[in-house]
Amino acid sequence: MSVEFLGDWRRTHYSSVVTPDLDGVEVTVFGWIQDIRDHGNIIFLTLSDKEGLIQITGTRRNTPPEVMEKMKSLSRQSAIGVKGVVSARVEAPRGVEVIPREIKVLGLASHPLPLDPTGRVHAEIDVRLDARILDLRRPEPRAIFKVRHKVVSAIREYLDEQGFIEVHTPKIIATAAEGGAALFPVDYFNSRAYLAQSPELYKEELITVFEKVYEIGTYFRAEESHTRRHLNEFISVDVEEAFVDYGDVMKLQEDLLAYVLRKLSDECMDQLNILKVNLPKIVLPLKRYKYSEIVDQLNKNGYRLEWGEDLSTSAYRVLGKIHRNEFYFIIDWPTETRPFYVKPKGDSSQTCEAFDLMYEWLEITSGGSRVDRKEQMVERLRKQGLDPANFEFHLKTYDYGMPPHAGWGLGLDRLLMALLRIGNIREVVLFPRDRFRLTP
Ligand code: ATP
Ligand code: MG
Repeated sequence: MSVEFLGDWRRTHYSSVVTPDLDGVEVTVFGWIQDIRDHGNIIFLTLSDKEGLIQITGTRRNTPPEVMEKMKSLSRQSAIGVKGVVSARVEAPRGVEVIPREIKVLGLASHPLPLDPTGRVHAEIDVRLDARILDLRRPEPRAIFKVRHKVVSAIREYLDEQGFIEVHTPKIIATAAEGGAALFPVDYFNSRAYLAQSPELYKEELITVFEKVYEIGTYFRAEESHTRRHLNEFISVDVEEAFVDYGDVMKLQEDLLAYVLRKLSDECMDQLNILKVNLPKIVLPLKRYKYSEIVDQLNKNGYRLEWGEDLSTSAYRVLGKIHRNEFYFIIDWPTETRPFYVKPKGDSSQTCEAFDLMYEWLEITSGGSRVDRKEQMVERLRKQGLDPANFEFHLKTYDYGMPPHAGWGLGLDRLLMALLRIGNIREVVLFPRDRFRLTP
């Protein structure tokens, strides 16, 4: 079979708008063949486009013989165009089908396919990711990425509405904000550069100009750990605001979460039904547990944790059991567990004005008030074994009037995991990058 030219064929209707009330109307539809059922005198094609599915029904009585022949020889997942007449028929899916008059083959799929895009044959995640483009043609991944799109646009809408401006900071950098261990080095002409782990220092500098900034960007961490919640490349939604503290940006965070949830329940019901998920319910304000309370909760539930220790994966798993279906904050962390730019609390430097937003066992967001005094910044850098000389440009900002400020970084991929109750981050990322995967 040969591939034909598009010529002057243009789509008149997406599948979703081909409805029974168009009975008798001629339409042109395009898409990929999801399924073919050949019963001899009648052939059914299921055509899939970006909006859904439409049945194409060829019959000996109503369809030209050469079109019937073509339908018989088509391969699943080939891209085709169909000109035909809409027919309302109760037995057809959604009560409607198209009787083809002409079919153009626009892109052939060669068989065997590495996986079954109808999802009838189960495939392991690695097989699916190896053939990700084909995998994405299944209804579930499509639904996930439509929801993801809606989450991102809802975040932009909300932050714009609150007077934030979106910024883009460098992704090739000379010094690390989060400590040097997890950096990917890059050959930068005759010197060494790194891929950014976060926009932290840039966004803090930018609040001295724009006061309220946000960035939705790609960041890189060279962590070797292979978990269901870490990738080496991920998307973070970062926010930073001047003249506020961590309480204010926690409120911003929870209001944003409520906005996103409302948006999804208003506009993504079809996708949520395909995924068979109910959105998590929240009541504002979310619970704010002090780190010290979390230590108590863990110890009461048989997990030994000393005050001052960071939480391990197994501690998070216990927390997940205690806080089922719950979004909650953990606040006032030991200063030692947090990066140098997080502000210690009042006179006691033991705890700091830091928070994490959690969903069950999963950390979604880290944020806090920031160090806004130069001397304290230098001291914090030294304490964490970092050389202030490497932070010269950032420290200079403190000489130009650095106000108190606070902000957070939200892992977009993790937020999707929580909203859709998906256990593996790879499901919500188009082309995930981990320790063992650099392709496709
Ligand atoms: P974790 O302790 O889970 O490794 P973190 O505390 O090191 O995360 P932060 O520096 O606080 O991460 O980054 C802010 C947010 O970015 C995290 O709360 C998380 O949602 C997301 N994030 C960080 N690292 C990764 C990663 N490797 N893969 C996916 N998301 C990440
Ligand atoms: Mg964190």
